[in-house]
Amino acid sequence: MPELPEVEVTRRSFADQISGAQITAVFLGKPLRWPLGVAPETLVGRSVVAVRRRGKYLLVDLDHGMLMLHLGMSGSLRFAQELPALGVHDHFQLVTSKGLLRLHDPRRFGAVLALEGEADPLAVKLLSRLGPEPLAEDFGVDAFLKALKGSRLAIKQLLLSGKIVVGVGNIYASEVLFLSGIRPTTVANRIGPMRARRLHAAIREVLARAVATGGSTLRDFSAADGMAGHFQLEANVYGREGLPCRTCGAPIKMLRQGQRSTFFCAHCQKP
Ligand SMILES: [Zn+2]
Repeated sequence: MPELPEVEVTRRSFADQISGAQITAVFLGKPLRWPLGVAPETLVGRSVVAVRRRGKYLLVDLDHGMLMLHLGMSGSLRFAQELPALGVHDHFQLVTSKGLLRLHDPRRFGAVLALEGEADPLAVKLLSRLGPEPLAEDFGVDAFLKALKGSRLAIKQLLLSGKIVVGVGNIYASEVLFLSGIRPTTVANRIGPMRARRLHAAIREVLARAVATGGSTLRDFSAADGMAGHFQLEANVYGREGLPCRTCGAPIKMLRQGQRSTFFCAHCQKP
């Protein structure tokens, strides 16, 4: 599943190139998670102003309105001047004056929504519940500490909820908890300020590094320019059950939390 770093890497790989492009045609394939919301031809003639990201949504600002894209479970975008003929899993394409923007999505949990803007009720519904951006200034350490104090959830579940910060998916949650020495099952309000500060720093560091290395979680991930990401090369604990901890040598353990796999070192990570 594309995580926040992959979505950000995707955004960076085509945002500048598509900026200023005029839409000349729109192709819709099989239904995605949600319908586009307008007749596709109404988008023709509009121009792309900018491509932003909020959580795992890409916001394509047009000179009138906005497209909101989500990659779902298996979606990927390509942007190029020329692309091969549309395949059976290509379900959306913008033909623009600067190139083709194509969504490839075998499982079709992705979506493209045409909206009036961020004030559109559907955009508000999807975006308003998202916690702060991990790489933005508004992800402050004081608010983070306060949010931990106010929660009785296991810390890993709280991170996955997206309410205190967006973008810490299953793989990154295991990694940041390892780096901050916190057992994933620890109740959030029992984490002291020292460890909470380490966790806050680890979240920023791990996600920034994932973006810098081109996205790291998806085996077949490639950005919209076709460049492959780096494949889980750096994981300390994720997917390493039974292998020696890179810090202490103890075998990495695995448990299930909310039907998701959690990896940790029982020696390095304290309850
Ligand atoms: Zn260890």
